[in-house]
Amino acid sequence: MTATVTLPIRPKPERTLFDVAVEQFNIAADVIGLDDDLRRILSECKRELIVHFPVEMDDGSVQVFTGYRVHHNLAAGPGKGGIRYHPDVTLDEVKALAMWMTWKCAVVGLPYGGAKGGVKVDPKQLSQNELQNLTRRYTTEISALIGPYSDIPAPDVNTNPQIMAWIMDTYSMHHGGVAVPAVVTGKPIQLGGSEGRNEATGRGVVFAIEEAAKVMGLDLTSATAVVQGFGNAGSTVARLLTELGCRVVGVSDSHGGIWNSRGLDIAAVLEHKRRTGSVINFPDAEAVSNEELLELPCDILVPAALENQITEENASRIKARLIAEAANGPTTPEADQILYDRGVVLLPDIYANAGGVTVSYFEWVQSLQHFYWTEQEVNDRLKAIMTRSFRAIHAMAERYHVHMRTAALALAIQRVAEITRLRGIYP
Ligand code: NAD
Repeated sequence: MTATVTLPIRPKPERTLFDVAVEQFNIAADVIGLDDDLRRILSECKRELIVHFPVEMDDGSVQVFTGYRVHHNLAAGPGKGGIRYHPDVTLDEVKALAMWMTWKCAVVGLPYGGAKGGVKVDPKQLSQNELQNLTRRYTTEISALIGPYSDIPAPDVNTNPQIMAWIMDTYSMHHGGVAVPAVVTGKPIQLGGSEGRNEATGRGVVFAIEEAAKVMGLDLTSATAVVQGFGNAGSTVARLLTELGCRVVGVSDSHGGIWNSRGLDIAAVLEHKRRTGSVINFPDAEAVSNEELLELPCDILVPAALENQITEENASRIKARLIAEAANGPTTPEADQILYDRGVVLLPDIYANAGGVTVSYFEWVQSLQHFYWTEQEVNDRLKAIMTRSFRAIHAMAERYHVHMRTAALALAIQRVAEITRLRGIYP
């Protein structure tokens, strides 16, 4: 994945990201009346590993880097969560992201706990050789935690299939040199990566939209959509919506947006972006800013770029009836309430973009069995999970009269709490 930013919510200065995660947890825990003992357990991270490790640079000097791997909760299964390389990585951020992974896995019913890792580094300043050395040493430092049955990392901001290959190779070398592909997901296909993984997030978003459209009585063959962000997730959503007959009238990237009320030719926009590096200046479309794009008339809005795009400032001007969060944290809590009061249906990130982690789970299952599925099998199983999860979240929202974000979180917490309760407190 090449996501630039994935912070679900930017904290106010006095609150850290982990404080925000705990606050969200408490709101949803109140909805389901979670008891105090389970609240105390689930609002802490189980393990927080901090490592400082040296890497020899190409010029012969040695630099010391700081990395983290956190397990929030492992009640449902091994830890699952990405590794990010970014200069701003902190323990607090990794803890919050690990907690969100617990809920994301639980909301779609994957047998995983939540984990996350990171190294405080600007990878763009490193050569390939330095990046490989850093990755192999970091993998060694966190090897007490990771493993195919204990904690399975994946790509996140600034990490990619090549980095997963180095992690897999390092771990395998520590275990006698026999390949252990199930220790990471997001691997290159040649090493046991899954068919369909690249498109999984966008495809999952579209399955979620199809389910919501049924409940809303929205006919996708005559609906219009706008997609903010035209990277891995956004461009897949735009293409698949077009295949369903939907008119995608606006798309954007970091350079700006384009709009055509008759519908954009998405295949041509993809080709234009491949040639020029951006969607802007696409012929047969008007230019719009990213701010204007969000407020264009349409039925479906898909934020697929950054966090904090829909705020209390613009929420009342959004025209879409359905918002599907491909990005993590594109909507602020204040905007959530405004949209809910206006009757806009919002498919929250922990559910809407869970197609990525779901197909990571499929990759892990295939790697453990050394038995690989076709893309069709992957897509069919993804659809079954996204459909089943939508129905469970929707039922929760109706039952407790809450918006879909709180419903999704409440469902996830209820599932993890029940597993924790059944297992009991050791010893
Ligand atoms: P990506 O880097 O492939 O694409 C990001 C897109 O957003 C690019 O087109 C970029 O130009 C655009 N963008 C950047 N700044 C922008 C701005 N200010 N306004 C409009 N567009 C802007 O990343 P991705 O993998 O598609 O991820 C996008 C979002 O989806 C992130 O929030 C990510 O965390 C989330 N997500 C992705 C996956 C996945 O598997 N790819 C899984 C879960 C969540």
